[in-house]
Amino acid sequence: MYRETWAEINLNHIRNNLKNIRESLPRKVKLMAVIKADGYGHGAAECARTAEQVGADTLAVAYLEEALHLRASGITLPILILTPIQPKHVMLALDHDLMLTVASASWFREMRVFKPYTSGKKIQVHVKVDTGLGRIGLQSMKDWDELVPWLKANDIVVDGFYTHFATAGKVDTTFLELQTKRFIDMMEWSKKSDIAIRHYHCAGSVAALRFPELAMDMVRIGAAMYGFYPGKLVSAVKLLPALSLHSKLIQVKKLYRGDYLGYDNMYQADKDQWIGTVPIGYADGWSQNMQHTEVLINGQRANVVGKICMDQLMVKLPGPCEVGTKVTLIGSQGDEQITFAELASHIGSVAQEISTSLTARITRSYINMEEAWIHWEKEKLSYKSKNAVI
Ligand SMILES: *Cc1c(COP(=O)(O)O)cnc(C)c1O
Repeated sequence: MYRETWAEINLNHIRNNLKNIRESLPRKVKLMAVIKADGYGHGAAECARTAEQVGADTLAVAYLEEALHLRASGITLPILILTPIQPKHVMLALDHDLMLTVASASWFREMRVFKPYTSGKKIQVHVKVDTGLGRIGLQSMKDWDELVPWLKANDIVVDGFYTHFATAGKVDTTFLELQTKRFIDMMEWSKKSDIAIRHYHCAGSVAALRFPELAMDMVRIGAAMYGFYPGKLVSAVKLLPALSLHSKLIQVKKLYRGDYLGYDNMYQADKDQWIGTVPIGYADGWSQNMQHTEVLINGQRANVVGKICMDQLMVKLPGPCEVGTKVTLIGSQGDEQITFAELASHIGSVAQEISTSLTARITRSYINMEEAWIHWEKEKLSYKSKNAVI
């Protein structure tokens, strides 16, 4: 690492979050750890490995590339791809033992061009139904009836049947209840068609933590494993954010009354003041929407001033500071803390948009990687050299 801007990821927090979530649920409920978008920006392989250590049953990612990356990193747990893959890539997915989401009969028809009934392994699928999010999934019994003959083929295993909630984080639960009712009705279709389904699941983090009775056979935990939970709801389950973000001052100078600072003269000093430059910008995922937020320096809050540049931003210092002084953009210094919730509310979004926006230019530095990992790192390297997937 040459640049002094880094994200620190505390794997013990992820470990404890997952343990606490698991303990809050009935024992028979399986845990699917959602590692999409590079583990919500925390590092997919490291998070997958941590989930494996605490006994996650399955992993989930959004796309085929993400699943292949986990396999190339030596991850052997079952993996579900949450977005339907292109039918022509079915054999690639099978070669890597990936479970596929199915949301239409037409997908099966196209897929059959590439996967003969008799060849190769069984395909494990999870059928996705749309109960109100309006994103992906079967919507009607007619859609289901078209799918059934394809699901009955000998080389198909229906490992799951699932839906996703639109309003799990809303205080008002009316729509959540409507979606639940629709899902229960749709579960009846599958029973009537005499198709064996291994797992029914509907709950992501918030639904699973707020309403453990919705856990069914399995929960899909993303946000909460990284320590994210909507600020307006209170969880009985203890969660700690795993990621903090830090940098160091690379220049300190005095700005005099009337001087401008940054692009477009967006900031003008109303009196003499000290300014520090921090090497992080929008190309790191620290968007211009973060203008007017604060950072921590020497345990005190300092305002970001002027427009955020591509590679740097400027802060108004409480007084003169040494070059090299640590700057915390997310996390704590002394008694002060800058939380994901605070930043998310500033940009009108959710914590996971901030963590997933941090680009690859920001080094991820891991703490509490256990001894066992050193061995795993070696295995991973030898796997990589044998199976160059990407
Ligand atoms: C991303 C995703 C999840 C995880 O949701 P969280 O709220 O982050 O726990 C679960 N299910 C599906 C279908 C998803 O796309």
